[in-house]
Amino acid sequence: MMRLPKFDYRVPREIAEAVRIIAGSGPEGQFVAGGTDLYPNMKRRQQTPRTVISVMRVPELHQITGDGQKGIRIGASVTLTDIVEHPLINRDYPVIAHAARTISTPILRNMGTIGGNLLLDTRCNYYDQNYEWRKGINFCLKKDGDVCWVAPGSSKCWAVQSSDLVPVMVAIGAKFRLASTLGERMIDAAGFYNDDGIDYLKKRPDELLVDIHLPPLNGWRASYQKLRRRGAFDFPVLGVAAFVQLEPGNGSGQAAQVKNARLVLGGIGPAPVEVKEAAEALIGKPLDDDRIQEAAEAAYVKARPLDNTDFVMNWRKQMTRQYTLRALQELISRD
Ligand SMILES: Cc1cc2nc3c(=O)[nH]c(=O)nc-3n(C[C@H](O)[C@H](O)[C@H](O)COP(=O)(O)OP(=O)(O)OC[C@H]3O[C@@H](n4cnc5c(N)ncnc54)[C@H](O)[C@@H]3O)c2cc1C
Ligand code: SF4
Repeated sequence: MMRLPKFDYRVPREIAEAVRIIAGSGPEGQFVAGGTDLYPNMKRRQQTPRTVISVMRVPELHQITGDGQKGIRIGASVTLTDIVEHPLINRDYPVIAHAARTISTPILRNMGTIGGNLLLDTRCNYYDQNYEWRKGINFCLKKDGDVCWVAPGSSKCWAVQSSDLVPVMVAIGAKFRLASTLGERMIDAAGFYNDDGIDYLKKRPDELLVDIHLPPLNGWRASYQKLRRRGAFDFPVLGVAAFVQLEPGNGSGQAAQVKNARLVLGGIGPAPVEVKEAAEALIGKPLDDDRIQEAAEAAYVKARPLDNTDFVMNWRKQMTRQYTLRALQELISRD
């Protein structure tokens, strides 16, 4: 049986108290929300904080405010189940409810939070193993070792960004609010993730994720398609988030044109990958089958999955085309 290492457990009731505690804990401090990612990692000795600070008793982090017209703010400690069941999120941001519904199992969604999901550790077949297994291969670059077993010549870790909500947040243009004893800052989801499996967030360890700001609905729609082995349970090994904003037709036969578009791939590298070439194939044109095929081809060309998750990497690359087609076709089928 894998046991947790010893640690001090702190339960602040306010944001100011939470950031004070982590600032005083130095590099040995870490926040925890539902613990569905952090506690297994601690049992495997991948992360070993001496002070664990729960963010579950801070009321402000549980709030959901606003609506589709103004935009919605979701507190970082809102559980995935609450996201899946929230009437306003289902009505105005169905893509968020849908992506959250694909995460893990109902029990884990009852514990797991949106904040924890957006800050999820990167994953790799050579890393998500117990301590003895990792010791057996002399560890790896990400923790305790000095070689990457996926790309032995590489000085970089290629562990994979494996959250379902991350590509969606980037595609729709969400923003995150961070707090520390130094003050607050807002950061775009698109600029929040580093293409490095070890240093994968542009967030200091002492910064608390306070809430997530979803943009107002001004004619955009979005969809998410997830590839995984078991539909009831698994992490994504490819996630495709598609976002388009349409300009209505002119009423004299001209079809609606795509005003803005973003296509973001998750589960194929350390950071979500925005396929600008796919957006270029769509913008200024009608959202029809030819454009969708062109965008799907661009996604296929851009995708470079590595051999460190489930399924053969070439097949995952092939599936990028297919899942992009599905994500974009879903957007047309809503008319
Ligand atoms: C069997 C299994 C299957 C899973 N399947 C999926 C899946 O299909 N898709 C998917 O996306 N995820 C999956 N997960 C991962 C995980 O359950 C979810 O991502 C969940 O949302 C994590 O949330 P949490 O609150 O439990 O995070 P925690 O474990 O509490 O925290 C995760 C990280 O975020 C940090 N953190 C949490 N809250 C804050 C905050 N407010 N400010 C600063 N730092 C914070 C923690 O320090 C930690 O580094 C799975 C996990 C398991 C165990
Ligand atoms: S990509 Fe390489 S360094 Fe990163 S976790 Fe996997 S084996 Fe380790």
